[in-house]
Amino acid sequence: MAEYDYDLLVIGSGPAGQRAAIQGAKLDKHVAIVERKAVVGGVCLNTGTIPSKTLREAVMHLSGYRERGIYGASYAVKQHITVDDLLFRADHVMRHEIDVTRHQLMRNQVELLYAEASFVDDHTLQINYVDGRGQRLVSAANIIIATGTRATQDGSTPFDGLTIFLSDDILHLDHLPRTLAVVGAGVIGLEYASMFAALGVRVTLIDKRTRLLPFVDGEIVDSLVYHLRQNRVTLRLGEEVKSLEPIHQEKGERVQIRLASGKKITAEKALYSIGRNGATRALNLHAAGIQADEKGYLKVNACYQTEVPHIYAVGDVVGFPSLASTSMEQGRLAACNAFKVEANSVPELFPYGIYSVPEISMVGRTEEELTRQDVPYEIGKANYREIARGQIIGDSTGLLKLIFHSESLELLGVHILGEGASELVHIGQAVMAYNGKIDYFINTVFNYPTLAECYKTAAFDGINRLG
Ligand SMILES: Cc1cc2nc3c(=O)[nH]c(=O)nc-3n(C[C@H](O)[C@H](O)[C@H](O)COP(=O)(O)OP(=O)(O)OC[C@H]3O[C@@H](n4cnc5c(N)ncnc54)[C@H](O)[C@@H]3O)c2cc1C
Repeated sequence: MAEYDYDLLVIGSGPAGQRAAIQGAKLDKHVAIVERKAVVGGVCLNTGTIPSKTLREAVMHLSGYRERGIYGASYAVKQHITVDDLLFRADHVMRHEIDVTRHQLMRNQVELLYAEASFVDDHTLQINYVDGRGQRLVSAANIIIATGTRATQDGSTPFDGLTIFLSDDILHLDHLPRTLAVVGAGVIGLEYASMFAALGVRVTLIDKRTRLLPFVDGEIVDSLVYHLRQNRVTLRLGEEVKSLEPIHQEKGERVQIRLASGKKITAEKALYSIGRNGATRALNLHAAGIQADEKGYLKVNACYQTEVPHIYAVGDVVGFPSLASTSMEQGRLAACNAFKVEANSVPELFPYGIYSVPEISMVGRTEEELTRQDVPYEIGKANYREIARGQIIGDSTGLLKLIFHSESLELLGVHILGEGASELVHIGQAVMAYNGKIDYFINTVFNYPTLAECYKTAAFDGINRLG
């Protein structure tokens, strides 16, 4: 008789939990995932990454946004876009991705327990089945916590999911508003603000910080701000929200937002997006000897171990960088560590994709960081409009910027704003991973006509700037 029911129990079936479980199974271990929702996939497949990126694609297609540079500002594939038009695409992609994930887990013989898990001790979980089949205890030699996050709510705001809603509610909107206030201009708030603006919704974006996306290169942020304003987004930065309350007007339900500066903003709907907290409340962590911080996040070491060595934590529940991509890799590495299989640590060089309109992507350091670190650098830029592919696709405002060491020419950062940014960035990432220099781009032949040619143009521009 084995000492435990499982070699590995994973709590949560988002990207981090899936990869942890599959890696454990590939090492021939007896693995189960406990998932408290009736579907697999976590925030990534059900409410966050995949729905939001598919909605964006539907917005970009139906609104004709991408083609307006060629056919004019009034061009649209569909005139009266409805919530159902947008959801049609999201629903299709989500169903497919959930099915693929479930199949992948089944193929690898990972048991799926649809239940909420909480610790009884450091090797035992109580699981409460979501279908009302009751509860039971399960034990494991190793446990990986991959419970992700929940959208932050404040107790005084009357959320109803329709007029005042969270990003998690987006798939349940009843109609597209004419006006929308977005409270919180982090990545999620910005993505949705620019998406709604591309649909013609009048958006007001409010944040208490005075600069958007502090980790993004300043020039790219300036460009984004220009585009937001072009799409009639009103930016209220450096403003603190005092209250949000529903009000009844002749035209229907509205939201009134009061700012500390005395301003009042009225909109048909408000998206509240001020951040996320670690989803650890239900876990009864103290029974396992673990503590979360005040925002629900868990602390781990470089091997993703919590303070209890056979209990690991991965993905959004450990905080930064809170991306699906890095969460997957953390899950895989934690399972390798649990079974003493050698594995590399998560590469420090990971790209960021921000699916605002226009799209932003970056890898490596920004000008601001390099200046703070006293690193001598130069930049090289290419505008999409200089590149034949930019003209063909009608993106005349895209920009690719290389940052490189002004003496060694080593590539230190790539920052892109425009169509395909989050794909293009991987070329720069690969060059940086091998400590490449910008002369690589000069001496390389790229397909023509492609956006990738921006790398060559930007490298020439950089060399010219060095004089
Ligand atoms: C609107 C939005 C857009 C995003 N866009 C992107 C993007 O474009 N690119 C990107 O890389 N990332 C994006 N992200 C972030 C990405 O979704 C997360 O990084 C990723 O989902 C984290 O994976 P995870 O496995 O850690 O957690 P999650 O995906 O949150 O999964 C956690 C799972 O654990 C389950 N769970 C929690 N507690 C328990 C319990 N006690 N018992 C059993 N099960 C439990 C939950 O039900 C959930 O299914 C976005 C997020 C949001 C909200």
